[in-house]
Amino acid sequence: MNYDLAVIGGGAAGMMAAGRAGEKGAHVLLLEKNDRLGVKLVITGKGRCNVTKAEFDVRKFVGQLGQNGKFLFSALHKFSPQDTMDFFESRGVCLKIERGQRVFPVSGKAKDILEVLLKYLKINSVDVLAKAEVKDLIIKNGKIEKIILCDGKEFIAKNYAICTGGKSYSDTGSTGVAFQWLTRVGHAIVAPSPALVPVIVREKWIKELEGVSLKNVNIKVFQNGKKQCERFGEAIFTNNGMSGPIVLDLSKKIGELLKSNEVELGIDFKPALNFENLDKRVQKDFSELKNKIFKNSLGMLLPKKLIFIFVRLSGIDETKKINNVTKDERKRLVHLLKDFRLKVKSLDGFNKAIITSGGVVLNEIDPKTMRSKIIPNLYFAGEIIDLDGPTGGFNLQIAWSTGFAVGDNFQTGCILY
Ligand SMILES: Cc1cc2nc3c(=O)[nH]c(=O)nc-3n(C[C@H](O)[C@H](O)[C@H](O)COP(=O)(O)OP(=O)(O)OC[C@H]3O[C@@H](n4cnc5c(N)ncnc54)[C@H](O)[C@@H]3O)c2cc1C
Repeated sequence: MNYDLAVIGGGAAGMMAAGRAGEKGAHVLLLEKNDRLGVKLVITGKGRCNVTKAEFDVRKFVGQLGQNGKFLFSALHKFSPQDTMDFFESRGVCLKIERGQRVFPVSGKAKDILEVLLKYLKINSVDVLAKAEVKDLIIKNGKIEKIILCDGKEFIAKNYAICTGGKSYSDTGSTGVAFQWLTRVGHAIVAPSPALVPVIVREKWIKELEGVSLKNVNIKVFQNGKKQCERFGEAIFTNNGMSGPIVLDLSKKIGELLKSNEVELGIDFKPALNFENLDKRVQKDFSELKNKIFKNSLGMLLPKKLIFIFVRLSGIDETKKINNVTKDERKRLVHLLKDFRLKVKSLDGFNKAIITSGGVVLNEIDPKTMRSKIIPNLYFAGEIIDLDGPTGGFNLQIAWSTGFAVGDNFQTGCILY
């Protein structure tokens, strides 16, 4: 078969690229190494799929993606968060916007999103081949001539799109193998690193807090005694550190900082109150509990598991009557509540990372078409590109927009290179 486009990788980006190219009339082959498409897609958003971010101002959207964000301008203009919502809603998936402008299917099922894409591929006559692991790209005269699968089969197409994702959650299929092919064919790769990843801390007792979730807290990141960044929202303690939306969002910056020096987290458990007001609140609580012992007096301030740790770290005798707690001791407690320090040991690895930061360098890709500037019949979409965003639907939108940009280039009978 002589295909107009062979898409490697049947994740969010690959399915969108292949479906759109098929819709434009191209003869398309989609190769996926798993026995089915969208293995990662169905676990997104804890199985609910945060399909996009309802941020309809393109400038604000790219502003959230850091320095590399402006690369996405054209692709977002072509296929914006509104287009994503229209795409799925017009195909029968009702969507809802939750807190933080996060968009989910009303059904709460990521599978509904996958179903739409599978139909999109079928309706547009895309040839889908599962259990088809691409081993290598063969270059001839500066162009990709063919691709070879691990089982020895070969496929020839006029154009090729690499949508193999990053290196995160490799059990879903994204192992980062394409970075090796691409380095060999002359593309520069920004070294992949885990991003949106939990943080491991040095404090061993942290495992006692495993599973304790925190709402409406503020976490600050410190280096050399200076605050570097902060986030407000939800977090959770793990068996070796911290995770949850705000920790994941801070992880990229923490990773950068760790390259130069030690990093500390400072949790403010009561960000709505400044030190003085919190101290007043504690005094009021204490006046109502004056005959209780210290360890039984913190229930109104903290979850149970945290109380044990607070009692220990405050240095206050747990059996002391509240009446006898000194002003200094109380201030120590308030200090812990406002600035609970943890020393960061490292970021967790790729297998716990929601996404991979790094990938194909942006100045080697045409932002309008996602076409390689080095190999004329090669395209990229999704996480393989050196572009990533915070939690909240940004990363799937990157996959939809770049996938659509790839597919949109093709017309019936086209020869693009
Ligand atoms: C647990 C988790 C939850 C997430 N939740 C959200 C969320 O709610 N919202 C959001 O915006 N983002 C979320 N993300 C991020 C989002 O899933 C990714 O950004 C997105 O899936 C990237 O799409 P992709 O198509 O580029 O890569 P992938 O989805 O990783 O797809 C790549 C595909 O390529 C295939 N492949 C790889 N190598 C080969 C090969 N050699 N031959 C053939 N096929 C190959 C893989 O098997 C895979 O199917 C989440 C990620 C994780 C891990």
